[in-house]
Amino acid sequence: MKLPPLEYVAPTSVAETVALLAQAQGDAKIISGGQSLMPMLAFRLASPKILIDLRHVPDLDRITVGDDGVTLGAKVRWVDIEQDLRLRTAHPLLADMIKHVAHYQIRNRGTVGGSLAHADPAAEMPAIAVTCDAALEIAGPEGSRTVPAASFFIGPLLAALGPSDMIVAVRLPAWPARRRRGLAEFARRKGDFAMAGVALFYDLDADGRMEDPHVGAFGVADTPLRLREVESVLAGKKPEPAVFARAVETCRASVDPPSDIHADSDYRRALLGTMLEQAMLQAERQSRDDA
Ligand code: FAD
Repeated sequence: MKLPPLEYVAPTSVAETVALLAQAQGDAKIISGGQSLMPMLAFRLASPKILIDLRHVPDLDRITVGDDGVTLGAKVRWVDIEQDLRLRTAHPLLADMIKHVAHYQIRNRGTVGGSLAHADPAAEMPAIAVTCDAALEIAGPEGSRTVPAASFFIGPLLAALGPSDMIVAVRLPAWPARRRRGLAEFARRKGDFAMAGVALFYDLDADGRMEDPHVGAFGVADTPLRLREVESVLAGKKPEPAVFARAVETCRASVDPPSDIHADSDYRRALLGTMLEQAMLQAERQSRDDA
């Protein structure tokens, strides 16, 4: 279908964007990469009167790497992450994520801010944000605020954003050298959204035990999840087959995925356990490679 008739504006600052959103009183939508919004407009799943294009808002396309972590501006595209060699060491989990995100054409346009705002429970970036204790910088009519990723995703395609709010950036805490990581997902076709996926990381203490494990899941609930019970199983243990088996069992018992046309709940639950096992094996192989 063709797009509905729309007014189009292209502001030149964050403040102007927020003012335009506020003026429109809920009748405007930001467009960033357009990879989710354009189909939604075409299918009339969104019908704003005004489209606010971020293309002329400066500085939102920056990737900043510092001692305190990595900050991605809202307009950073998947391809920017893919091509930024600093991220291979500054945040390898983020770098690993890219090979699972969509197809080249979509990665060339799709942005971090668009993905976080769209809040697809099967998308990788929201899951990485939740797993890594990221914080979102949001600009709104009352000024700027920081929202932890853990409380940002509140339902399928639903985020803690008011009608006049915009995402400015997301900050991921620093990634220590030698941190272990794993990312596994299953999709029927390469580049499709995940049917189930796991992202995880941990550090190893002097005895080779897993310290402060973080385990996230996507595609299995209304929002990306932290699998806290699985984290408890892993914490303080050596990465060994018996521990992995108990973690997989706990993982499957701790989720209640929805059924849909792609897979029923039991299949997704089983698949998530397998993805967890694969992610743990990836992380364990890094330990052996370093030994
Ligand atoms: P847009 O489409 O421009 O916007 C999406 C929503 O976010 C809109 O509601 C818009 O108003 C809002 N928005 C945008 N920017 C901001 C902002 N700064 N502040 C507040 N609100 C904002 N994604 C994955 O993660 N994994 C996949 O495997 C995957 N596969 C895909 C396959 C296909 C065929 C397609 C079409 C898309 C796929 N995507 C996938 C989605 C893609 O990665 C996009 O990046 C993502 O949908 C949104 O980014 P965008 O910049 O295109 O946002």
